[in-house]
Amino acid sequence: MNSTTIAKLVETYKLPKFRGAQLRKAFFEQQVTKFQDVSTLSLPMRQTLAAEQRVLSFDTEAVFKASDGRAYKALLLLPDGNRIETVLLNPKPGLWSCCISSQVGCGLACTFCATGKLGLSRNLTAEEISDQVLFWRQYICQQRLDARLSNVVYMGMGEPMQNRREVFASLTELMNPDTFGIGARHLSVSTVGLVKPMKEFTDQFPQVNLALSLHAANDTLRERLMPVNKSQPLAALREALQYHADETNRKIFLEYILLSGENDSAEHAEELVRYVRSVDRPALLHTNLIVYNPTDSDHQASARERARAFRDQLEAAGLSVTIRRNLGRDIDAACGQLALKAGETPGYSPSAESSPASL
Ligand code: SF4
Repeated sequence: MNSTTIAKLVETYKLPKFRGAQLRKAFFEQQVTKFQDVSTLSLPMRQTLAAEQRVLSFDTEAVFKASDGRAYKALLLLPDGNRIETVLLNPKPGLWSCCISSQVGCGLACTFCATGKLGLSRNLTAEEISDQVLFWRQYICQQRLDARLSNVVYMGMGEPMQNRREVFASLTELMNPDTFGIGARHLSVSTVGLVKPMKEFTDQFPQVNLALSLHAANDTLRERLMPVNKSQPLAALREALQYHADETNRKIFLEYILLSGENDSAEHAEELVRYVRSVDRPALLHTNLIVYNPTDSDHQASARERARAFRDQLEAAGLSVTIRRNLGRDIDAACGQLALKAGETPGYSPSAESSPASL
């Protein structure tokens, strides 16, 4: 459900224009989940729409809840039989943030990422992308979770810049004051660094946050961890970062997963410092260190002390840096863990709960 779908409903059923506003209000302000409950429509019209149209572009197969109650993961079934996952996180009291997918699977094969092992099935449509946000809004309301959904990050399954047309359309929809009305600064797009689309993103969405998955600051290592580095090497990424910094004057987030014995030494930290300093105005770059979340791979998480030492070294060199909190590990909802394992028992928390029937 988005502004285009509502416009099409109005046209298809030859409804007066004000019905469009009523539908927008019901689904985007009042968190109505079914056409039957849009009380401003006549009963016959509600019944017709309920029989012929859908509110969300997928069905909910399951919702899993982390044992600490601060992360949820939903497994969603698309009409063509494909499945995607989407995550809701509670990083601090009163703040919910959702992490949404942009593709079914991913073709970029980063070695530390469970999604990368699935390969790419297809791109999601703009509506399938923004519907994940609508889904979580409805879920928060139905489950009476405290506070509202504040932030949306494109950090789920898939590489957003490989599906930029639909991702950009979904961003426009999420910012649309008549529907989602989310401020640009509450939206973030994470990319492995596809240079050309990154520049288009900068031009079209200068106020939306940009995160770059870096994970290594030398080409040999980065290429081993992320095959995409062959065509998008660090020097080209530096130009894209520079362009974004110059055009927007806004903070850019560098994501760096710490892998034991691979990219977490003092020398690697020094390489990262040099790379950040090679961008003019390095103060605009903030590094998020992520302790590796277990997936089916040979990588190991860095020890806590090594992670702290790595952070301290960056800080001592004047970089802005934090170690990011990991939420949702016990339901495989943390960074890099989305891999559609719902049909299998391993990896899923016993606290998994079925989705409410009304979703
Ligand atoms: S990290 Fe992102 S780009 Fe890399 S394989 Fe996973 S989903 Fe794809």
